[in-house]
Amino acid sequence: MSGFQRPRIFRPPSEWMSYYLPVTSGCSNNTCTFCYYYGSRLQMRDVAEVKEEIDALRLFKSRRVAVPGMPHVVYQLASQWDGRRVFLQDGDALVYPFPKLIEVLDYLNDRFPSIERIAIYATAQDILRRSVDELKELLRRKLSILYLGLESGDDEVLSQVCKNTSATEMVAAAQRVEEAGLALSVMVILGLAGAERSEQHAVASADVLSQMDPEYGAALTLTVVPGTPLHTAIERGEFKPISPFQSLQELRLIVQHLELTRCFFSSMHASNYITVKGTLPAEKDKMLAQIDRVLDKRDPSLLRPEGLRGL
Ligand code: SF4
Repeated sequence: MSGFQRPRIFRPPSEWMSYYLPVTSGCSNNTCTFCYYYGSRLQMRDVAEVKEEIDALRLFKSRRVAVPGMPHVVYQLASQWDGRRVFLQDGDALVYPFPKLIEVLDYLNDRFPSIERIAIYATAQDILRRSVDELKELLRRKLSILYLGLESGDDEVLSQVCKNTSATEMVAAAQRVEEAGLALSVMVILGLAGAERSEQHAVASADVLSQMDPEYGAALTLTVVPGTPLHTAIERGEFKPISPFQSLQELRLIVQHLELTRCFFSSMHASNYITVKGTLPAEKDKMLAQIDRVLDKRDPSLLRPEGLRGL
């Protein structure tokens, strides 16, 4: 095996049935001040090593034979996997060189014709680096959904957290994905602007998300990762985090201002204090009423306990 470090598994809630196959480790944009990947070193995995894992997975699924030297996690994941979905790790695996990505997808589909859907995290830059035709090439190989972190629709917040992308680029990336026919899932982070720009952040996020008009939208809640610049800023009193109930106010503002044509929007991610989900625009009133019930009572026991919140 090469010096490739297998990454921790961070995946969207809806990928819970997937096999997590690393092609990269870390993120090419390792500057975001709040992120676990801050300062991470991007590693590209050799195609040969990815293929070895696919072969080991096939051998295990077909004959229950484990290849010596394969990481234990491969078999842990394999034993629960139903053969239908694959999530390519890591933080922005779409940065993986395009010809290599095609090679991996072809190999995966050849060894597992049962696969129905392959998913990946991508930055706006990764998407804009690819043409519509290239994205269609991915779709033909069942890579049919991209997860993109908008984080905030407020350019000032994006700049403060060193996202290296503007809201305009996020919208352009979404349009390209739409043109190619892939599904897009877009995440925003409640609390990312802190207390001072909370309302602006929420309204701008709803506005940009509406322009992106994805099939899926998700709210996450800011979770402070030790060792990040955001953690340091909080310790120094330079960033004032919002309270759990303020995060629900942000969630309410976002849902209220969203103008989407057909989107499943949720706060199902483990970082959130409550779970709200529904199809927009149809279920907007129902979702707002659900948030209001919690906001009206202000009862902390209705919130996910701090210790059970996850990244
Ligand atoms: S682009 Fe995404 S994964 Fe990469 S450092 Fe920023 S928030 Fe983290």
